[in-house]
Amino acid sequence: MRDRPARLDANGVACHVLIDGWRTVSPRFVFEGYDDAVQGEFVRPYLDADDKLPGRMSALLVESADGLVLIDAGNGRFAPDLDAGHVHEALETLGVHPWDIRCVIITHGHADHVGGLVGPRDEPAFPDARHVIHRTEAEFWSSPEAEALPNGAGLPAQTALMALLDAELLDTVEGDARIATGIDAIEAPGHTPGHLAIVVNDAVLWAGDTFVSQLNVPHPQWVSLSDMDGRTNEATRRRLLERAAAADLLLAASHMPISGTVAQTSDGYELLPSERS
Ligand SMILES: [Zn+2]
Repeated sequence: MRDRPARLDANGVACHVLIDGWRTVSPRFVFEGYDDAVQGEFVRPYLDADDKLPGRMSALLVESADGLVLIDAGNGRFAPDLDAGHVHEALETLGVHPWDIRCVIITHGHADHVGGLVGPRDEPAFPDARHVIHRTEAEFWSSPEAEALPNGAGLPAQTALMALLDAELLDTVEGDARIATGIDAIEAPGHTPGHLAIVVNDAVLWAGDTFVSQLNVPHPQWVSLSDMDGRTNEATRRRLLERAAAADLLLAASHMPISGTVAQTSDGYELLPSERS
C-alpha cells in the first residue's frame, strides 16, 4: 500500500495516485481550534497509537486523450526531514519518463505540491510539459508577502515559478478552464488564494487540498491551520460537495487516504468509500 500507486477510473480514463510520502499530523493542525470534547468522537477512530492522524501526500497522473497530464509533483528535494519526494520514483514504477509528461497542472504553491517541479539544479523536472497554474496563485507566490512567510515556505514555489518562466513553460489560467481533452480546472480558493481543483472526464474530482481529511466531507466547516482563508475554503468545499453529489463524481484529494462518492444526507454529506479507487 505504501508505495504502489492506486488507480482511479474516470469513465475509462486511467488516473494513477502517485504517493509522494506519508506523515502523521496532530488533529490540532488538521482542524483549527480542535476540541476533543466536541470533535473527538468523530476523529478518534482515525487516530494512531500516538494520537496522530495518518496523512498521505500525493499527486495524480492522468492518461488523457492529449497525452499524460500530471497534477502536482510532490515535495521533490524540499522536505529533507520527511520520508517524501517520491513522485518521480512512482512515475518510474509506471514506466513514465519525465519527458513523457505533456502537461502539469499545479493545484497550488505549497511545498508538498510544487517541490518536485524542479530538479537538483533548479531546472524544470518536466521539460516537455506545459505547466498551468491559476493567475492569482502565481501572483501570490511571486509577491513580497510569500517571500516573508516563515520557515522559507515560499521558496519552493518561487524556485519552481522562476524556472518555469525562464524556460517559457508556464501558462496561467483564470476562471474555470478546460486544460486538455476531458480535464477541467475549477477555481477553488481558500486553502490558498488561487487554488485549483480538477475534474477528469466528468467522473473524478481531484480536490487538491480543499479537503485535507475525509472528515471534511461530513464536517466542511472544520477548517485547517494550513488554510490561508478557512471560511473561503469552507464555501469552496460546500460548492465542490454539491457538484460531486449532483454529478456522481469520485472525490479524491492529495492528503485524503481514501476516495469515494459523495451522498447527500438529511444534514449534509457523507463519503461512500469507492470500489473504483
Ligand atoms: Zn498539501
